[in-house]
Amino acid sequence: MLGYAYGATRHGADVQLIRVQADVGPGFPRFTMVGLPDSSVSEAKARVRSAFHHAGLPFPKGRITVNLQPAGVKKQGSWLDLAIAVAILRASSALPSQDDPTIFVAELALDGALIPQAGLTAIGLRMREEGWSSLCISADQSLPWPLEEQFRVVRAKHLQDVVAELRHPRPSSERPSRQTAEGRWADGTCFPLVGHRVETRLLAICAAGRHALLLVGSPGVGKTTLADAFVHLLPDLTEDEALEVAAWHEIVNPAYSFTLRPPVRRPHHTASVRTLLGGGRFATPGEVTLAHRGILILDEFLEFSHAALNALREPLDRGSLECMANGKPLVLPASFTLVATTNPCPCGYRGYGDCTCPETEIRRYWSRCPGPVLDRIDIIHHVNREVGQHVDVEPFHVWEKRVSTAAAILARCPRPGESAMTGAGQKALARACERLRASERDRQKIAMIASTIAALEGRDEVLAPDVDEAIIWRNPGFASPVRNAMM
Ligand SMILES: [Zn+2]
Repeated sequence: MLGYAYGATRHGADVQLIRVQADVGPGFPRFTMVGLPDSSVSEAKARVRSAFHHAGLPFPKGRITVNLQPAGVKKQGSWLDLAIAVAILRASSALPSQDDPTIFVAELALDGALIPQAGLTAIGLRMREEGWSSLCISADQSLPWPLEEQFRVVRAKHLQDVVAELRHPRPSSERPSRQTAEGRWADGTCFPLVGHRVETRLLAICAAGRHALLLVGSPGVGKTTLADAFVHLLPDLTEDEALEVAAWHEIVNPAYSFTLRPPVRRPHHTASVRTLLGGGRFATPGEVTLAHRGILILDEFLEFSHAALNALREPLDRGSLECMANGKPLVLPASFTLVATTNPCPCGYRGYGDCTCPETEIRRYWSRCPGPVLDRIDIIHHVNREVGQHVDVEPFHVWEKRVSTAAAILARCPRPGESAMTGAGQKALARACERLRASERDRQKIAMIASTIAALEGRDEVLAPDVDEAIIWRNPGFASPVRNAMM
């Protein structure tokens, strides 16, 4: 007799839903599994047999054949244990053989207990994509709330509980409560950047337009504080964006807690190319993918290896990167906002006091970063400390709101940049680019920054003053070690 159940297998963040087909027939007792299972899936035979015994369920005598469909896809991991057990129970008539739209995902312990499996978000997203509505998991697990409220979720501690549920289905348990905005700062709190009026505006521009930023300054000038403050300025992700982020993070961190806040990654400057980009046989996400839709903070930017910095070119350009996993090409998302910090010279005090570094030393220092990577950073800013000045700082929630509004304006603009400019804006851009001998990339960056500045003022039309301010930030004619190193 035949029995069916549905489960899932995962390769990186790529989830495949699997139809488990079991056949129980007369003959010499034998348990065969086909359909490209790897050794971890094949070991399910021992776990399932033992779980039946401890759950007080008779293990079918005779020949058992389990087929995993589609047969051409490699299956790995222990996610399929429960689905295999249910398919065998149905094939041996211990459970009613019905067309059940449930995905079963759990490993079975030898005593029949259901062991939680990491990566449920990716399964939930695939289920939603393919129109499935019901999921059976370990009682110790939960889905992120935007998914949990879309499915009927059956939780069980033991194989016996699953059998009881399938024989006599109970109404679904209570729905999870929706998460409200996650409080970061109480209303009225001041933006915590005393003495950094200019930088406050700069951070707002970069947060709204997701512009890559390099902060240059002497030790103690506040670069790290600015990078930290930037994190708080970014608006919350949408639910779907946050689910996509969670699916990637659960691969490397099974205890990842679902949140609408954008991810923040801060790899150490000794990080290798592999750590930054990820990849490998199992398509492990690297730092650039874990920072997708969030921020990648690179402190001591010029201390990273030349190869590591060079590796940032592709994700900075495309917002994704291609790699090979298990012989197949795979695209990993990597659309992050880069916030990097560095000293201006080896001693750290050029432009801030007594610098004794020779010019050649400074050029060598900056040449650690490949020119094309520096050129892809939208804004390179020398941090000034407005020491002793009383600065009127607007409350944080004002900045937060302004950034959210600007991001929304930019999101609905199909092609921000030059096409959104008024005639005067375009003329100002053309004049400045000619005068400063700006490159085509400078021109594009200036146009994008100008669009963000306009959006921060609540406009989608870019005016000449927006272009003027964008030129100051991009600074294409700036003669500094930074630019010299790029020549
Ligand atoms: Zn120096």
